[in-house]
Amino acid sequence: MQTNMTADILKHHPGRDALPDAGGHFGIYGGMYVAETLMQPLLELRDAYMGLRLDAVFQKQLNEELKVFAGRPTGLYFAERLTKKLGGAKIYLKREDLLHTGAHKINNCVGQALVARHMGKKRVIAETGAGQHGTATAAVAARFGMKCRIYMGSEDMRRQALNVYRMKLCGAEVIGVDVGQKTLKEAINEAMRDWVANCMDTHYILGTVYGSHPYPMMVRDFQSVIGHEARAQMLEREGRLPDEIAACIGGGSNAMGLFFAFLEDKGVRLTGVEAGGRSGEVGEHAARFDGGRLGVLQGCRTFILQDPEGQIGLTHSVSAGLDYAAIGPEHAYYRDLGRIQMTLARDSAVLKAFRLLAETEGIIPALESTHAVAYAIERAPQMSKDQILLLNLSGRGDKDVQEVARILGEL
Ligand SMILES: *Cc1c(COP(=O)(O)O)cnc(C)c1O
Repeated sequence: MQTNMTADILKHHPGRDALPDAGGHFGIYGGMYVAETLMQPLLELRDAYMGLRLDAVFQKQLNEELKVFAGRPTGLYFAERLTKKLGGAKIYLKREDLLHTGAHKINNCVGQALVARHMGKKRVIAETGAGQHGTATAAVAARFGMKCRIYMGSEDMRRQALNVYRMKLCGAEVIGVDVGQKTLKEAINEAMRDWVANCMDTHYILGTVYGSHPYPMMVRDFQSVIGHEARAQMLEREGRLPDEIAACIGGGSNAMGLFFAFLEDKGVRLTGVEAGGRSGEVGEHAARFDGGRLGVLQGCRTFILQDPEGQIGLTHSVSAGLDYAAIGPEHAYYRDLGRIQMTLARDSAVLKAFRLLAETEGIIPALESTHAVAYAIERAPQMSKDQILLLNLSGRGDKDVQEVARILGEL
């Protein structure tokens, strides 16, 4: 397997320069909806990144870091026993769970830390919900010798105590945010405040394809290595492309990372799986396309769960990483076009899928990624045995084992 794949995707993908436009728009979605004080650091970042994404030296550094630090390329795995059990399409897993720190988040953190270094920034900050993005940020900060501060809702800190300690071990300062729901949304607000005050020496490593331009584009670029590798691996292994590919969607970075390289392959169906939570009732799920509507939140225009007055809706999911009221703007755009189809998986189906993958393949998936597995349990039997369904296994489930045991009453 070549190791210069990221450079290839950034340089040669046909759709690459089309979207977003110069203002960060994906059709009616995206943009730069921020206060005046944030505009200057965002424009500085945009200009720096627009230069770097075409820079051969930068691409070389990025590919080297992805290889030696993050552990790329990741494998494409044929889930033989799961396939037999479901009796339909051949199921493949893209193994992002095998990356350093346990999830795809590290792809983006490595990329943004390099951008920060090129911009001369000595300090990085980040928000985190479940703690996976904070952990990956703390790890790259240690690797590059940068100061690091992570903002995290105090409720999330309590639920994810182990991840908090992992960040601290890597030298990061973890700041608890004690307002509102005390979760991800509030942590993002605090990180933005810090950035405005310290943008001279600080870079904000946002963790998904969300927020103001250039983040949705930049994070997508850094995650697109997933799909680019998977596409080449599938061609090598099966001699053809998959019939369908599916990934869970929180903000949407692992899904867009997988989908991007397949956008022009019209025969490949792209499926995003949102968090269906306990039910379709308001506040019981985080499926933005099941009750959400157009709005603006934290820098970008997109689909958002909100009440009739525009107050951001409460959300629930068994997986903390999918528990956010808004979705990345590029997903909303391709869904309108019919290119990406959206579906959801309920918590109960996710818990069954978690068990099934462990039992059939010996792989314990992150609860986020398990949403894609739950979808496959429904979908694969409807497909024929000569068809192929590829799932993105965005992360590993070690962080979730205790919570699952608690929910199932086994601990
Ligand atoms: C954070 C996380 C997600 C959700 O974020 P996206 O930006 O939608 O990918 C999914 N899977 C894992 C393992 C995560 O850590």
